[in-house]
Amino acid sequence: MIFRPLTARAGSRRAAVPALMMRALMMRALRMIVALMLGGTPVAWSQAQAAVTTPAAAQNPAWTTPIAPFHIAGNLYYVGSQDLASYLIVTPQGDILINSSLQSSVPLIRHSVEQLGFHFSDIRILLISHAHHDHDAGSAEIIRQTHAKYMVMDADVSVVESGGRTDFAYGKSQLYPAAKVDRVLHDGDSVRLGDAVLVAHETPGHTRGCTTWTMRVHEGGRVLDVVIVGSWNVNPGYQLVDRPRHPASYPGIAADFRHTFAVLKSLHCDVFLGAHGSYFNMVAKLARLRAGAKDNVWIDPRGYRAAVQEREHAFETELARQASLP
Ligand SMILES: [Zn+2]
Repeated sequence: MIFRPLTARAGSRRAAVPALMMRALMMRALRMIVALMLGGTPVAWSQAQAAVTTPAAAQNPAWTTPIAPFHIAGNLYYVGSQDLASYLIVTPQGDILINSSLQSSVPLIRHSVEQLGFHFSDIRILLISHAHHDHDAGSAEIIRQTHAKYMVMDADVSVVESGGRTDFAYGKSQLYPAAKVDRVLHDGDSVRLGDAVLVAHETPGHTRGCTTWTMRVHEGGRVLDVVIVGSWNVNPGYQLVDRPRHPASYPGIAADFRHTFAVLKSLHCDVFLGAHGSYFNMVAKLARLRAGAKDNVWIDPRGYRAAVQEREHAFETELARQASLP
């Protein structure tokens, strides 16, 4: 049974780590004192809450539609919206959050973490799927609230540190608060906290530093390989082919996508996840759970392979279309 009542699991860790809670409370008090000493007041939270709903978000209501957070497997939880995926990995030494999403998503993510019985201030490490505003615009605010270390794939670093300005496609249209990167990741690097080990696979094309995360979780006596796809999509307006007066979005973008599909095909996947719920059919899988599915719907290796194949076909079709243009 994996869709267990949320409080049971959360409670077990709460009971196990009173020292961690005490430390978190002390840290919070210390931060308040420092903020007051620096003449600031910790009020920017409500300002962030009132922040920008971008035009892109307005066109995608599922991005900002709240859903109840849920347990996926092992120490892995979903704390995102109906389509913008955020993941919480819980360890006795603190927690890892993947994807800060939109600026306006931060209160939603925080509420989801707290609904599960965890503390937002326990987030020690912040990661992203890729440097687009729907996955990283909330990072500056989350770092302000948690003091988490921000770890980003090398080729996406300048984009997050410039608040989106150096992005090859959206550098003028989708800007957000810049955030400083504490650790630059390279392809194959591990991120470790407590008993959690996440591996960063560079899967470029959608962004230059697009990152697919893998990890192992223990669930029901099994060890499961988790794949969180960074992105596999050729967005509208992306130029895959260098043509007169229509330069490629960046040199080598088509080769990067090809590399990405080779990487995705090489990964062993039990638990299939991604940067958007739509990548892995999340809403339909949640409906199956509500209808009483007994199996762990998130274990879906066939769905993963089919989705990789379908997206690769879409990429090759678009590449051929662009190559045939005058
Ligand atoms: Zn994107």
